[in-house]
Amino acid sequence: MGTYVVTGSASGMGHQAAEKLRAAGHTVIGIDIQDAEIRADLSTAEGRQAAAEGALENSGGILDGAVLAAGLGPIRGRQRLIAQVNYFGVVDLLTALRPALARTQRAKVVVIGSNSTTTTPLVPRRAIRALLAGDVDKALRAVQLFGKNSAAIIYAASKIAVSRWVRRHAVTGDWAGVGIRLNVLAPGAIMTPLLAEQLANPKEAKSVKAFPVPVGGYGDAGQLADWMLFMLSDAADFMCGSVVFVDGGSDSYFRADSWPVAVPVNSLPRYLVRFLGYGRSKR
Ligand code: NAD
Repeated sequence: MGTYVVTGSASGMGHQAAEKLRAAGHTVIGIDIQDAEIRADLSTAEGRQAAAEGALENSGGILDGAVLAAGLGPIRGRQRLIAQVNYFGVVDLLTALRPALARTQRAKVVVIGSNSTTTTPLVPRRAIRALLAGDVDKALRAVQLFGKNSAAIIYAASKIAVSRWVRRHAVTGDWAGVGIRLNVLAPGAIMTPLLAEQLANPKEAKSVKAFPVPVGGYGDAGQLADWMLFMLSDAADFMCGSVVFVDGGSDSYFRADSWPVAVPVNSLPRYLVRFLGYGRSKR
């Protein structure tokens, strides 16, 4: 049986994942701002450091995997918290936990992204770049012009940035090379306290309800947790840097033809360009 860190273990999808892991006989080190083995505020650098230290101590420095589910929804007025928890609460914690994950040589990590990554228009590239560069103030300045919509935009930016961080790192020697499988689960609207808070606000509720979901209704947190457990299992040995959408079809509805797309030639390593013969016409 394994030892897993689960952030956001007190509520919603993180709670369901923690319960299912425990029911399967695993040890869970929950991290949350409330009701968890390790109570820590992932919106601050000190809180993230305390969370990482606690997790390393409780696990004896050996982890079989992690679920990064702590996060905030796109609620107005919480822009800074959204960026801090949704991006840095994942990236800083995973960076600190990496040596413990590497020790088991086949650890699995599931980061909870969102389908807002592909269904929110106009997210400024500057905001995403700023988060990836670790500059939260710059990211917040980049979304200011959206006024009352800036919470939705920084939310999408935080989830795009964290998904990109996962994909960039998943394939490297420090992660894939030491047996860590790093992947993203991207949910759509799932019935949790986070969504309930949005639905309790008439204006937010209107936009949630107007959003197209081809299969209808909202997703079930327990079913999303089943996906997480699958992505933590041996079934994910060959899964690396993937973003799995479980969103009732909204991503496909908006972007059926946007992906998969062929890799641009200028993204290929030079030896491959030569090997495949793409460079010949230039000679
Ligand atoms: P939830 O509100 O039920 O659970 C989130 C958990 O994160 C809570 O236990 C909360 O205490 C914890 N948390 C919040 N701020 C924290 C902080 N500063 N430090 C430590 N813990 C903190 O929400 P959920 O719907 O289960 O969301 C889980 C993840 O899924 C989040 O990252 C969210 O952005 C993402 N998501 C949710 C939906 C949805 O519709 N519910 C859709 C897409 C993505």
